[in-house]
Amino acid sequence: MIAKVIKRIGYIGFCTCFIQTTAYAKPLEFGLNKTQISSLNQTINDNFENIINTTIDLTQTAAPPFNETNRAKKFMELLRQSGLNDVEMDEEGNVMGIRAGKNKGPLLVVAAHLDTVFGIDTDVKVKRDGNRLYAPGIGDDTVSLAIMLEIIKAMNNAKIQTNYDILFVGDVGEEGPGNLRGVRYLFQKGKYKDRIKYFLSLEPGSGGGYVDRAIGSKRYKVEFDGPGGHSFSDFGIVNPAYAMADAITRFSNYPVPTKDQTTFNVGIIEGGTSVNSIPHSVAMTVDMRSASNSELNKVSEYFLAQLPIAVEAENSKRALNRGKISYKVTKIGERASGFTTKDSFIQKSITEIYKAYGLSIETSASSTDSNMPMSMGIEALTIGSGINGDGAHSLNEYIEIDKPNNVKSIVANIMLINVLANGK
Ligand SMILES: [Zn+2]
Repeated sequence: MIAKVIKRIGYIGFCTCFIQTTAYAKPLEFGLNKTQISSLNQTINDNFENIINTTIDLTQTAAPPFNETNRAKKFMELLRQSGLNDVEMDEEGNVMGIRAGKNKGPLLVVAAHLDTVFGIDTDVKVKRDGNRLYAPGIGDDTVSLAIMLEIIKAMNNAKIQTNYDILFVGDVGEEGPGNLRGVRYLFQKGKYKDRIKYFLSLEPGSGGGYVDRAIGSKRYKVEFDGPGGHSFSDFGIVNPAYAMADAITRFSNYPVPTKDQTTFNVGIIEGGTSVNSIPHSVAMTVDMRSASNSELNKVSEYFLAQLPIAVEAENSKRALNRGKISYKVTKIGERASGFTTKDSFIQKSITEIYKAYGLSIETSASSTDSNMPMSMGIEALTIGSGINGDGAHSLNEYIEIDKPNNVKSIVANIMLINVLANGK
């Protein structure tokens, strides 16, 4: 998940009204009885230290992109201990298990991602400072994995029986380099793919913020190659750096739409061998995002159209006696956009439940595991798992413990899970 999402979910205000009777009176309408609701509260409250300890343990089990296996195996064992059935790792590396419902038809997926953005050499030792726990990856998304385990136990202790099966998943490849490979597999090849009716992605956060729109993205690396030569004696021959600079300038003039938020960025430029050499190769890495698939295609087509123009301009401007400039485009990432409508069952349910729990609802757009189901028209939301964090994707990342609000938020999420798993 991108840093902005965490901030969006993370900073959405706490509500201080959870002790008001209305906050707990309404959830009785959501299909559970008083005993079950008090059992849910008690389990999350009593097991709160488990959430912290498991978060620390999993955080200290590094899970870089494409290298999530150690953490995945550990989490798979914890899923098994939580009492799920059919616990397994699929071919992509996702780990999952089923909490059986009354029938085997439609299914609810509750997912949190195993991967972090950090390399294997990053120091992931957790440091406490008051009610904050610091470590790279601790919020995004490790704390959600720990919360998921206690959600399962709380539902079991409260003897909650749902109509649908619930598939709890720790998925791989959510972050940039992974390009959603985990959920992509789940929805395109996984054995449950045809049964998924609702999808909830857990990311750090509490307080009622959630993501109902998926920002799509396209990412390219473009290499420009030329003959190269000596900066003095070969002066006058074509230079791939000029072609790339021309392409970047043309791209930077793209008029983004005012309606569907659309962005672009040249994030990395690289190449060349020395200050006194005309480079034989330079490259740039580019990111484009939009809330609208058609706008995303437009900006991407515009970008790709500038490349031959810039290359042709350089080839016609300077000498070709040593060779021409050419370019090569590699697509390094693609996520489709999508959204879950306000009048969908999943969004109506979350609104009612969060309101009843006194959480302040704020919706946002982002790029998360929910991109995949949203782009397929499957009702999906990315919600705050119950504990706040900040500093995602940085070495100063932390989560902040605020037990009463955390417990409330987690219980509200269980209410939502129960409602969705009973269907309309
Ligand atoms: Zn994330």
